[in-house]
Amino acid sequence: MKVLVPVKRVVDYNVKVRVKSDGSGIDTAGVKMSMNPFDEIAVEEAVRLKEQRVASEIIVVSVGINACQDVLRTALAMGADRGVLIAATETLEPLAVAKLLKALVAREIVQLVMMGKQAIDDDMNATGQMLAGILGWPQGTFASKVVITADTATVTREVDSGLETVALALPAVITTDLRLNEPRYASLPNVMRARKKPIEVIAPHELGVEHSPRLTVVNVTEPARRAAGIKVKSVQELVERLRKEAKVI
Ligand code: AMP
Repeated sequence: MKVLVPVKRVVDYNVKVRVKSDGSGIDTAGVKMSMNPFDEIAVEEAVRLKEQRVASEIIVVSVGINACQDVLRTALAMGADRGVLIAATETLEPLAVAKLLKALVAREIVQLVMMGKQAIDDDMNATGQMLAGILGWPQGTFASKVVITADTATVTREVDSGLETVALALPAVITTDLRLNEPRYASLPNVMRARKKPIEVIAPHELGVEHSPRLTVVNVTEPARRAAGIKVKSVQELVERLRKEAKVI
């Protein structure tokens, strides 16, 4: 079974982001960029499927600028087999990314797409759902456990009320949640080996996809500053204040 894992290059989760002074977006100049953390979890899960001999090949794909090859290399060092960079100079919206992924799924004859539930830069939480929709495939989103048998994926989903287990007929799209696994660090020999693994660069038009934007970012601002906290003298006072001042948001 071929597994496709889309990986997005985002501002590293440890970086405190700065908004550009003209409010047009986030300042990424000189900022550390990394693989979206949920995508690392997806790569790890795919590699585990390969180790269990459930997956035969893992293809990682990133849509974006040339520097996205860095996150592809990281995924290759973790155990993916080959990479595809779909070259785009501007940031594409989830629907455009989903259309490109659909075209790649058809070209590669993939049986499973394992991807992050959400990119931590734009928090869209949409690409996986859109991809499953336009492919007409079942989807198991927010996965915290995945079991694959011959033609079924059993996915335990993290939902507000607890855990929900669904069975999907393959081919399917699965999106990963935080508790699915703990991604491995790539060892130095694997980083070296990954340098020799192939990365193909293709343009969106080669996949026959039109990707003009449908949204315009009007303005980006920093969140309102939180008021400083206070220290209470006793548990008694804490309980008293909670009773009188705490609000249900
Ligand atoms: P989003 O819907 O933007 O929150 O992203 C959800 C998931 O879609 C991410 O975790 C990635 O797996 C995938 N994805 C979104 N944008 C890209 C991109 N530009 N390149 C590769 N994968 C992407």
